[in-house]
Amino acid sequence: MTRMPALFFGHGNPMNALQQNGWTEAWARIGREIPRPRAIVCISAHWYLPATLSTAVERPRTIHDFGGFPRPLFEVQYPAPGSPELCERLQALTGAEPNHRWGLDHGTWSVLAHVYPAADIPVVQLSIDESQPAAFHYDLGKRLAPLRDEGVLVMGSGNLVHNLHAYAWGAHAPEPYDWAVRFESHAREWMLAGNHQPLVAYETLGRDAMLSAPTPDHYLPLLYILGVQQSDDAVTFPVEGVDGGSISMLTVQVG
Ligand code: ZN
Repeated sequence: MTRMPALFFGHGNPMNALQQNGWTEAWARIGREIPRPRAIVCISAHWYLPATLSTAVERPRTIHDFGGFPRPLFEVQYPAPGSPELCERLQALTGAEPNHRWGLDHGTWSVLAHVYPAADIPVVQLSIDESQPAAFHYDLGKRLAPLRDEGVLVMGSGNLVHNLHAYAWGAHAPEPYDWAVRFESHAREWMLAGNHQPLVAYETLGRDAMLSAPTPDHYLPLLYILGVQQSDDAVTFPVEGVDGGSISMLTVQVG
């Protein structure tokens, strides 16, 4: 079996689930172009709690984990099956505890609704342990690497730059903040060079990084994808752009 690529998606505004725009069309293109996975494990910014858990249910529910959005967004269903088998594999690889309560949150389905609109590929979510430092998440990503040779798509869903305080709600395509542009630019250079150390130590990088990742939740999924990267994997950025001045929509593909 060929090794699957791994992807970090910048999911941005939940409304992307319902929209057709340059970002969502690029997500759909990725789904058509990469080899079809047997199953998907998703590390979403929106399952962030003090433990490493993985969804064990056969039929994960679609979770509408947001407020203040139009009714049609609350009616979206993404009825992909779960995979108790992949959940067990995750437990073996990482010690993740099987969980029967969580389903698929919008970090997962707002992207997959475009990548795999038929919702016919099993999806398991892996939670982000908020009590652990960044290096823990990078190391956990390394333990997921064998899945890529087993036909599993490892995906992270967050945003490299995610500052909601600075986000221009409703504004028409404002210029990105200079700190967002600088941080993303440095991050891209490090990723292209395979230099993960500064990205793992992002909290020590100063003001641009702190404004870009004021909370760890949307940033950490990236570290899982860098963790599964192998030395011969190419790094590409199939989706680019900054939404509302302060949310990077960058997609990072390894392999
Ligand atoms: Zn989000």
